[in-house]
Amino acid sequence: MAARLSSAAGRQDHEHRRAAVSSVRRVTEETATPATTEPTLDEVVALCKRRGFIFPSSETYGGVGSTYDYGHYGVLLKNNVKAEWWRSMLQERDDIVAIDSAIIQHPRVWEASGHLAGFTDPLVDCRTCKLRFRADKLEDAQCGRKPSKRPGEGPDCELTDAREFNLMFETHVGPVVDSASVAYLRPETAQGIFINFKNVLQFARVKPPFGIAQIGKSFRNEITTGNFIFRTREFEQMEMEFFVPPAEAERWHQHWMDERMRWYTDLGIRPDNLMLRPHGADELSHYSSATSDIEYRFPMGFSELEGIANRGDFDLTQHAQHSGEKLEYFDQQTKERYVPHVIEPAAGVDRAMLAFIVDAYDTEEVEGRQRTVLRLHPRIAPVKVGVLPLVSKEGMPDRAREIFESIRGRIPAEFDEGGSIGKRYRRQDEIGTPWGVTVDGQTLEDDTVTLRDRDSLEQVRVPVDGLADALEVRLTEPWRSPKLSD
Ligand code: ATP
Repeated sequence: MAARLSSAAGRQDHEHRRAAVSSVRRVTEETATPATTEPTLDEVVALCKRRGFIFPSSETYGGVGSTYDYGHYGVLLKNNVKAEWWRSMLQERDDIVAIDSAIIQHPRVWEASGHLAGFTDPLVDCRTCKLRFRADKLEDAQCGRKPSKRPGEGPDCELTDAREFNLMFETHVGPVVDSASVAYLRPETAQGIFINFKNVLQFARVKPPFGIAQIGKSFRNEITTGNFIFRTREFEQMEMEFFVPPAEAERWHQHWMDERMRWYTDLGIRPDNLMLRPHGADELSHYSSATSDIEYRFPMGFSELEGIANRGDFDLTQHAQHSGEKLEYFDQQTKERYVPHVIEPAAGVDRAMLAFIVDAYDTEEVEGRQRTVLRLHPRIAPVKVGVLPLVSKEGMPDRAREIFESIRGRIPAEFDEGGSIGKRYRRQDEIGTPWGVTVDGQTLEDDTVTLRDRDSLEQVRVPVDGLADALEVRLTEPWRSPKLSD
């Protein structure tokens, strides 16, 4: 009840502030010729480097294949994507708890999970060009010789028979390197959740249906990497294991497919670029009775963004057998004892970021010049507002700095005074900043600023007083990608 009351009050307040903003004089300085464009992967890579989102790792040493470092805006965007995932898992519901498990786990975890025996991809070598390929992805690969062809297509190609290659990175724990000290970098975050099932059941006061969620790094020695951050050997996952009574598994599987699709579209991904694809019987993992992938239309075509699997009781049963611990739930009310079934939405942070950037990337002509703009949902945009003095004189930078200082504690803001105002707008557009506050001569007279909208390019004059409030209100408003056709 209290929540309802406060949200009604909040709505009134919000409408009041909106009215205050829209009653002020409108100023529009830029006009755009709208033309929605879809980027190539090269354009996305170039923007990410140019604006400090993502760099190839170890570049000073010539790079190391398919590993990337995230720069300032990349870190901010990634943090926002993860925060939105946590929000949807923890803040917006009360049946999921969080965990942060270790990367190096007992090697027997991977024996029980089936990764030691079965986490393999089929590998083929080409005796001619000496490259290695995934046998099941030959159609996506390129032979090392010119003219470029698919492996096996050229007259000289000589592919070996496929052999299974385990994708886990091996390491050694402790100073002695022998078979007893072998350990693995986790290839998924999920197992860290299963091995904590009992702890959570005991200490978090939960009962099925409930979930355990985790975000963290995973490592896979992928045979073929590529497509920028789409497939790398070190990446972050956002995985949640939802434990349910066996009879409810199908219903929860459907629930999580719907929820996860909605998460992407709520954060601005255009629905036409998403597809839910059920796995065929020949594609299902050893643990799964049903899996559907959420696929996104990446520049290289529709590809997996997230998998949503019905894992049945496979994992808990395996860990119970291998560890000797009982991993089950006893329902005090019904006096029923059972091994919960598990529904798992498993997403990649880096892939999600790539999808958000690709979906947001746009170019258009503004007064005869091309502008590139990242039309990111304001909630995931790295910076929400740029505060810019119109020119670097007449006290404008000082006033702009004061305004920046007054709002930065409430909303992620950036102060930007170097270069022409047009250049600074373009820079903010390219990092996806949804709003720009410009301090001009009039600000010094009547304490108003212009508030520029990244997408419509509309500029309105608003009072400095209440600016942070007005921006916070905008941040909570529903947002729709301007790239969506009506
Ligand atoms: P793929 O078929 O693309 O190899 P997968 O089915 O093996 O992926 P899962 O084990 O279901 O992937 O992992 C869940 C999610 O983790 C994937 O949907 C993806 O977003 C992310 N992911 C998996 N492997 C990688 C990788 N090598 N690089 C980046 N993200 C990855």
